[in-house]
Amino acid sequence: MKFIHDYRHFIEVGCTACGRKHTVSKGKYNVTMQGYSFHTPLACTCGSTASTASKENRTWTSKAEQHDIPKRNKATTVKMMLVIGFVIVFFAVEMNYMFHS
Ligand SMILES: [Zn+2]
Repeated sequence: MKFIHDYRHFIEVGCTACGRKHTVSKGKYNVTMQGYSFHTPLACTCGSTASTASKENRTWTSKAEQHDIPKRNKATTVKMMLVIGFVIVFFAVEMNYMFHS
């Protein structure tokens, strides 16, 4: 099953095989990392049964993007630090050369 919508009192899920919509009352499912797991397997009229409903990837990609932002900033900071470091070394070498000549 694929998770469609949370109506607070029940959740709406869709059959991954035929696309038929089903509802699961609150208290008859658990929220998991992947989505929802039903206490009793949900049988569709098309013959397929499912005990879990996966959440849409969209929700997870947006969360991943949020995690990527600090990483990108960190990488930029490291690059900046390296550039500044090289500049300092360059000037130190230049100064050393000037003092010796
Ligand atoms: Zn079905």
